[in-house]
Amino acid sequence: MDYQIKRGDTLSALARRFDTTVAALARANHIENPNLIRAGARLHIVGRDQFADRPRPHPTRDDAFTEGARAQERNSGGKVQKPPVIWKPSPNESSREGADIDTVVLHHTASNNTAADLATLRSPSAQVSAHYLIGRDGKIYQLVKDGRKAWHAGVSALRGDSSPSVNARSIGIEITNAGDGKTPFTEAQYRALEQLVPWLMKTYKVPMQNLVGHKDVALPRGRKIDPAANFDFGRIRAAVRRAT
Ligand SMILES: [Zn+2]
Repeated sequence: MDYQIKRGDTLSALARRFDTTVAALARANHIENPNLIRAGARLHIVGRDQFADRPRPHPTRDDAFTEGARAQERNSGGKVQKPPVIWKPSPNESSREGADIDTVVLHHTASNNTAADLATLRSPSAQVSAHYLIGRDGKIYQLVKDGRKAWHAGVSALRGDSSPSVNARSIGIEITNAGDGKTPFTEAQYRALEQLVPWLMKTYKVPMQNLVGHKDVALPRGRKIDPAANFDFGRIRAAVRRAT
């Protein structure tokens, strides 16, 4: 995606707007001095957090993980309870900079290995994260507090709107799945999502049209295909309707 620089734009403001970094924009556009950008010039927008695009680091031993389930946010979704989560904090998060949560984005991880997915989403060098990861066995890991911004959507827009960025306004949920369209999403994963997604939607008053897949928001169109076509979105929407 390209953007035409306007008078008054700064690279740091554009990086915030497109949810990327000054360094990534400078590198992609061969900008030597980030303080000198020219109105009218075209800027190629690249993300820092394009999950499936980057080589995966080898899974690290997981003895650094703290054990024990701990829900970070108290239930506020009325009758719908927040399901138990296992807290595995990721350093890859930042402030929402004032944006309210009004969107839920579902992803597949492009892997069938939950331990490797956890390692990636918690690796400082990977620069990616999500609020939640749903393991193959249906366990729900929480990596970023709901009130903070996770780095899962990259350069994206919700129905054309990129300000606030999709990351700033959304909760991101990664589902461990190879994403080849053939690997089934497990029954345990659907059951976990049928609890977690309605709770999030009620708690943050997310409208149904803002329950989306990464492929629905990623720019340029076609950059992402997740969640894969064999994911039963209708089953999750039905659970949300039952809960409201
Ligand atoms: Zn994704």
